[in-house]
Amino acid sequence: MELTKREDVLKFAALVVAKDYNSSIQIIDNWLQDNPFDYNAMSQFKGNKNPNKKKKYLGSPQNIYQDKLLPILKAANSSNPKEELYKLFDGKGKINNISIFSDGNAKLKFLNFSTMPKVNCGGAGGCLSFCYSFKSLRNPNVVARWVANTILENHAFEILEDSLRWNLGRAKYRVGLDQVVDFRLYNDGDFQSLDKMISWFDILNKFPQLQSYAYSKSLHLFKNFIDEYGAENIPSNFVLNLSSGVHPIYKPLKKVLAKYDFVRGEFIGIDLGKKVKPTELTKEQKQELRQKAYAMGFKKAFACGGICQSCTNQGHACGMRKLKDVAIVTPIH
Ligand code: SF4
Repeated sequence: MELTKREDVLKFAALVVAKDYNSSIQIIDNWLQDNPFDYNAMSQFKGNKNPNKKKKYLGSPQNIYQDKLLPILKAANSSNPKEELYKLFDGKGKINNISIFSDGNAKLKFLNFSTMPKVNCGGAGGCLSFCYSFKSLRNPNVVARWVANTILENHAFEILEDSLRWNLGRAKYRVGLDQVVDFRLYNDGDFQSLDKMISWFDILNKFPQLQSYAYSKSLHLFKNFIDEYGAENIPSNFVLNLSSGVHPIYKPLKKVLAKYDFVRGEFIGIDLGKKVKPTELTKEQKQELRQKAYAMGFKKAFACGGICQSCTNQGHACGMRKLKDVAIVTPIH
């Protein structure tokens, strides 16, 4: 396996999801043997202006897999994964130097949490052909966070809770009584099992200052949760967007779920015939998106502008329950 290739990274990650740590450790060991770090190699970094600049070990795939991920995998493979994983947790925001939560980026300045895409997305269908998360699969730093978080979800939700508590104590997220912290659950990845959904709901109940939202395709798990525990046990600070790309067998569940209060409404990707980023949409293209939504049977539509923190002057549309009957439309890009 070539751990810098997207397909192989996904195969490796699928073993982690399945808790087959023996195989995943073996894969990293073999890859490190076949790809030792070359300290004399020149930096291939695009912006490198100095032809004599040597490659840096820190931040290299070898550094990430050997020094950051292997110890976490070995902890997970031990007889007491939780205890061993706690030894690697700094008590704040990192596990073995990997940040667990992210503060977001220019387009989404919200606290967020991700796991490995595709291999955690049991309800995914058509979205796998345009999933934006795949672009990051060549970035070992990002893969490390996704894999580490997948392992924490497998064995130590307590670490996720402790790390979240620490993050919410940072000046950036400390809020007054009537304020909230927007939290995107699964910027990448999804609810992988009912157990994990329950663990996340437990955490959300403990942090009422969080206003969380997700775009899940794991609709079957929401249905299972409601059948087993009732919709009233879905935390009041959680909002679900029903996004397009769900697996065809779960599509009918959109209608079933739409009636519940925790569901905001549909979030749909529409093909404009060419790739356009939401931030670059013209007025005419926004109009075209809305028209296409009306043609699909939606009565109201809102074109996503792509910058979540300034999406509307009352907050971000995807987290607004009052937009329940509004289809939010975005170009497939
Ligand atoms: S509609 Fe607003 S909140 Fe939703 S994805 Fe687009 S920019 Fe972000």
